[in-house]
Amino acid sequence: MRYISTRGKAPALGFEDTMLSGLARDGGLYVPETIPTLSADEIRAMHGLPYEEIAFRVMRPFIGDAFTDEVFADLIGKAYAGFGHDARAPLVQLGSGHFLLELFHGPTLAFKDFAMQLIGRMFEEALTRRGDRVTIVGATSGDTGSAAIEAFRGLDAVDVFILYPHGRVSDVQRRQMTTPAESNVHALALDGDFDDCQARLKDMFNHFEFRDAVNLAGVNSINWGRVLAQVVYYFSSAVSLGAPGRKVSFTVPTGNFGDVFAGYIAKRMGLPIDRLIVATNQNDILHRCLSSGDYTTGSVAPSISPSMDIQVSSNFERALFDAYGRDGNAVAQLMEELKQGGFHVSQGALETLREHYDSGRVSEDETFAMIAHAHRHMGELLCPHSAIGVAVAEAQRDPAVPMITLATAHPAKFPDAVEKASGVRPPLPERMADLFDREERVTRAPNDLGQLETLIHDRIAS
Ligand SMILES: *Cc1c(COP(=O)(O)O)cnc(C)c1O
Repeated sequence: MRYISTRGKAPALGFEDTMLSGLARDGGLYVPETIPTLSADEIRAMHGLPYEEIAFRVMRPFIGDAFTDEVFADLIGKAYAGFGHDARAPLVQLGSGHFLLELFHGPTLAFKDFAMQLIGRMFEEALTRRGDRVTIVGATSGDTGSAAIEAFRGLDAVDVFILYPHGRVSDVQRRQMTTPAESNVHALALDGDFDDCQARLKDMFNHFEFRDAVNLAGVNSINWGRVLAQVVYYFSSAVSLGAPGRKVSFTVPTGNFGDVFAGYIAKRMGLPIDRLIVATNQNDILHRCLSSGDYTTGSVAPSISPSMDIQVSSNFERALFDAYGRDGNAVAQLMEELKQGGFHVSQGALETLREHYDSGRVSEDETFAMIAHAHRHMGELLCPHSAIGVAVAEAQRDPAVPMITLATAHPAKFPDAVEKASGVRPPLPERMADLFDREERVTRAPNDLGQLETLIHDRIAS
């Protein structure tokens, strides 16, 4: 299995190098050269299996010879052992034909643990074998950072730096990043918004002198390993509702497009997915683009669903690559236009995108209203991101096809918004009840590439 860049000018790599590098050297994102498929019988055979076993069967065709079967199964087992629910990704029923896929039982209470816990272990295994070390730099709107820190804290072969927008993450999110005591963990509060964090991260990757000097690695959802691990729960949930004998649809609260793109990969692998619905908050560039083809960036309007507060949606590049018939030059051209403020998707590409993705947008008021409604009438306390998914799903779903909405975070990660909407303050799970007693450690950082690079350099040298 080889991976190629969406901009067509970087060398093809195997799984391990794709995972360890993150971003391609031409600025593009790696995608599999071909997408392996599973037969209906292979999908049917997943019924009733433990999550870990389904994970092995779904991911195995993508990893080539990076790990032996035995090692890979062992890494998967360790990745999910710390989850607070035996099913890992339990499905609960919200109403007739509508199901919620709870992806928040991992150590940091958001779906990002599914991928991060696994790639932490894959990094460790690969780096130990190579006798290598890397510097991981990640940008976060809140949940990626805590998930990455939790996955990489204390590892010998890794320093992990997380850039988050100062003052724009919830207290729980911030404390999950600033309270780990391990010396290889560095939380950086950037003076800027999430798009600034993501832009500086990309700048570091495109500054080859720095990239090579610190052996830079990325674990944002631009990392193919992240997307891959997320394909699994599309299979596990659909199979439990009767796939491949029955079609299902998914609604996915979306920011950087990594999670919903994993759903598209599941579909391409043979899972009978009827519709994949992209749900956005008031920062609705993806909904606008999928509706009209217009991908013009504005400025981020902070919302109660901060993990979706985004204007530049990195993984959308992967969707564009396929929509443009895998033409790397066309994608590179669009990304040049994006630097000037935006682009317009061609009619043909837009039609292709629409074959795979529907979309909807939810305002702040509607989000509050859905949290209250779900609490009162569906028996579920939803985080604001999940509420956006449920609202879009309710508005658009076809009663004849089961709908699975992804619940991307635990309500206790966003207690203020949830309490304001429902009157109930969701408590943190027992295992992290002391979060507010732990000491914080954080460095304020300017939104400046040179100064950030110096700071990282100095930290890893000391
Ligand atoms: C990251 C995140 C999202 C958005 O996921 P993408 O893969 O970036 O589209 C949605 N909800 C929560 C809670 C998240 O942490």
